[in-house]
Amino acid sequence: MIDLIYTPPMVLTSTEATAGFFAAARDGILSVQQCTACGRFRHPPRSVCPACRSFEWHWQPVSGRGHVWSWIVAYPPLLAGFAELAPYNVVTVELVEDVSIRFVGNLVEDVGRPPNEVDPATIAIGERVHAVFALADGVPVLQWVRD
Ligand SMILES: [Zn+2]
Repeated sequence: MIDLIYTPPMVLTSTEATAGFFAAARDGILSVQQCTACGRFRHPPRSVCPACRSFEWHWQPVSGRGHVWSWIVAYPPLLAGFAELAPYNVVTVELVEDVSIRFVGNLVEDVGRPPNEVDPATIAIGERVHAVFALADGVPVLQWVRD
């Protein structure tokens, strides 16, 4: 897995609740929490299934394929670290396995690249993308690349 070529302003950290996500991400695999009892996906992770109230769940690898559900462009004023990248896109991607599961991230030209290289005028709702992971100080960072 390659390193990000820029310094991200913020990196998620693995916790007990998200350790399975990060373990799969280190292998380049997007995984989603899935209820073992009824099979429903859920994101963000939580301990109880909102459909059947089961506490049994596991991390389910998914294809990593999705569609841009929405997007914005971030402009200053922004917090330090974010301002240096601006303007940059933030996309919300719905997964092909379950369109109710949406991840927020950045659309990039290629894995590890910064989000400000993508011309926001070219981003289209519904366009097909897939998940990629690059490392920031050893922590996998989810990014989205066009199919
Ligand atoms: Zn359930």
